[in-house]
Amino acid sequence: MVLVKRPTPKKKEGTVVNQKTLCGVCGDLPPSLTVKTGMDERFPESFGRLQSFDLGSDREIYQCPGCMSIFEWIDEPQYYGSGRLDQESLTRLSEEEADLVLALWTRPLDSLEADSLLETAFARLPAGLVTNLFHALVYRDPRRLGCFLPALAARFLGNDESGLRDLLSDYGYENPKQAALILENLAGKGRTPGPLAGKLMERCRGWSQAGGD
Ligand SMILES: [Zn+2]
Repeated sequence: MVLVKRPTPKKKEGTVVNQKTLCGVCGDLPPSLTVKTGMDERFPESFGRLQSFDLGSDREIYQCPGCMSIFEWIDEPQYYGSGRLDQESLTRLSEEEADLVLALWTRPLDSLEADSLLETAFARLPAGLVTNLFHALVYRDPRRLGCFLPALAARFLGNDESGLRDLLSDYGYENPKQAALILENLAGKGRTPGPLAGKLMERCRGWSQAGGD
């Protein structure tokens, strides 16, 4: 379950820290914390009272039900060795970052707003966090993800990056209609696609034809 409303009557810069320190739920969580789970270290108990967005990945968003703060949790397993160096980190997002996450996730929007929101999000938030949020939308709210499609396609054409390729690929695979739309958006920008984009366009062509329309 996700809590969305943030009680932010005072929007002044710099008031965030005090507000959070007073929170009875998450007040004892520092701005950023890493625990070595491989050495049996654990987060403070209050971590268990935060509510997950259920993105279903090793990079998760949590929200405090008390003050609506947003946290990013990252699982950092060591892929070799004994596992003793496995660790997890938890970082409290700034108020601006938190508002951006909530806007991406739930704010009603038209495609024009989606374009500028996406640009701001990639400029202010870790790219992996943004891509992860969108990836969860593939399964939870594909229509919402569709609002961001023109901007995502433009960005992908610009950087030919594998994270965006994976996102758009899963999106198209899940729904042939979206595959046709992805193709349209990638082809319609008048730019030469990079190797990853070119390959994805081929696959989208196949999916949309197999989808029958
Ligand atoms: Zn809190």
